[in-house]
Amino acid sequence: MSAHLVESDVLIVGGGLAGCVAAIRAAEAGATVVVVDKARSIRRSGDAGRGLAFLTTYLDLGEPWDTPEAFAEWYCDIAEGLVDMEVAWPLAIDPLPAIHDMLEESGVDLHNADGGYDRVDRMWAPGPIVVKFDGQHIKPRLATRAEAYASANPGCLVQVAAALGRAKRPLPAFHPVELFDASIRNLGATQLLRGARR
Ligand SMILES: Cc1cc2nc3c(=O)[nH]c(=O)nc-3n(C[C@H](O)[C@H](O)[C@H](O)COP(=O)(O)OP(=O)(O)OC[C@H]3O[C@@H](n4cnc5c(N)ncnc54)[C@H](O)[C@@H]3O)c2cc1C
Repeated sequence: MSAHLVESDVLIVGGGLAGCVAAIRAAEAGATVVVVDKARSIRRSGDAGRGLAFLTTYLDLGEPWDTPEAFAEWYCDIAEGLVDMEVAWPLAIDPLPAIHDMLEESGVDLHNADGGYDRVDRMWAPGPIVVKFDGQHIKPRLATRAEAYASANPGCLVQVAAALGRAKRPLPAFHPVELFDASIRNLGATQLLRGARR
């Protein structure tokens, strides 16, 4: 067995959703980050590896039940007084809009095809506070923060381009033939990305 030393400012053990989000935030703050996971690849590791379908959150779109304050009240009610709001507010309630932004920036679109939100009820909630979304690929998107994508299927390219457009995160798209062509012409990633369509 060989070993090599990797240096970083931050070491994150476990690349589930929590580890990936911590890594993204640490990197955004300027730290070098290493994430280690016991699974073979963090692209599909952890509970979210097979995807998510629901996000319990307020959106603050005008309904009285849809505000951070109403969300906090519900949170306390279902926990029957066990929630310490001094901890829950800064960690689990206040950051929700930033989490929406992070997901959308990563290409995980919370909207439905009409540009709105599909919302459903949850236990004893004062309104439909659960956003239903296509989180099938949440893990590879958060784990890799992909800078480009490729598919040999034109329909797939169109669908991905449309979803990324809705998420306001258009990414360069390639057909595998273009990647093959670039590799035999010895084109670097920077040149390839510069000429890519989105
Ligand atoms: C089937 C299913 C559906 C779900 N659907 C939803 C949903 O729709 N909406 C929702 O909000 N939540 C949902 N959840 C819950 C959500 O997926 C989890 O709460 C969340 O993914 C937990 O993330 P985590 O990072 O805390 O932990 P984990 O996902 O458990 O991540 C821990 C990571 O640490 C790694 N690890 C563990 N031990 C070690 C070690 N010793 N060394 C190195 N690495 C290690 C593991 O491989 C793993 O990648 C669902 C869960 C499941 C199982």
